[in-house]
Amino acid sequence: MLDYQAILEEIHESLKNVENTGKVAAYIPELANVPKGKFGIHLHLITGENYSVGDASEKLSIQSISKVLSLAKAFQLVGNDLLERVDVEPSGHPFNHLSLLELEDGIPRNPLINSGAIVVADILLSHLKNPKEDFLNFVRELAHDETISYSEKVAESERLTGFNNYAAANLLKAYGNLHNDVEDVLDFYFHQCSIMMDCRQLTNAFFVFANKGTCLKNVQHLTASQVKRINAIMLTCGFYDEAGEFAFEVGLPGKSGVGGGIVALLPHCFTIATWAPALNPKGNSYLGMQALEQFTTKTKLSIF
Ligand code: GLN
Repeated sequence: MLDYQAILEEIHESLKNVENTGKVAAYIPELANVPKGKFGIHLHLITGENYSVGDASEKLSIQSISKVLSLAKAFQLVGNDLLERVDVEPSGHPFNHLSLLELEDGIPRNPLINSGAIVVADILLSHLKNPKEDFLNFVRELAHDETISYSEKVAESERLTGFNNYAAANLLKAYGNLHNDVEDVLDFYFHQCSIMMDCRQLTNAFFVFANKGTCLKNVQHLTASQVKRINAIMLTCGFYDEAGEFAFEVGLPGKSGVGGGIVALLPHCFTIATWAPALNPKGNSYLGMQALEQFTTKTKLSIF
């Protein structure tokens, strides 16, 4: 039996003092205030054991990690109809890239880049009665935790500087791939990105993807086939133009956010979340990527 606590501590110890060349996301002003030195890891085994190190119980802005949760909800609501409005190919471009969207007639490459997640948000807006409330309840249910909520401050901060997302949403609207008002869709999108969770809550919420669609509370939310597809999208698209590198170094499906969080999982085995706010040039956590590489190398637990 592996000593998971010792492994997490070893990884934390080896990385906490390395020179961190990453930079905290500043294009959302509220995120620029987060101290660069935060660093936590939480591991949740499918058998129920939990292991933590560092700042794993401090809340972070989950940002793009929320795109996997909104994709799951949309899949649950509309099934494969989703694929008529968003593709499932890696983009090879940054999360906020726009010109591919124009070249491909308003069909985003995948649901984990911003334009794709904005289409998913539009689908949720069309199908949920009280979109923000219903989506938050879905996340709370997945994580089995009623305390999870939006940060109005972060959502507003992103709205005020969200020019690139306004451009994406307007482009989608021009191509007929946005059914609701740009303002309403982006209000939902900025809120989903603003959700605050700690590393442990993230591993709880992502348990459903390691457990064939059944969440911690033992409710079946997704079919095994939907989970297979969501994990495939995470593996191929979860880290944008660094998805190949993450698969190469870590070998797990996962998702990053510009708040510095990363969640990854090994189906039927574990979910793991890291938080270190300073990002590498591709917008993924500088230390989180390295921590996960060390974890799968030391434990030999990866999908490959
Ligand atoms: N809310 C951020 C944005 O839309 C999410 C980006 C990310 O986490 N990669 O720019």
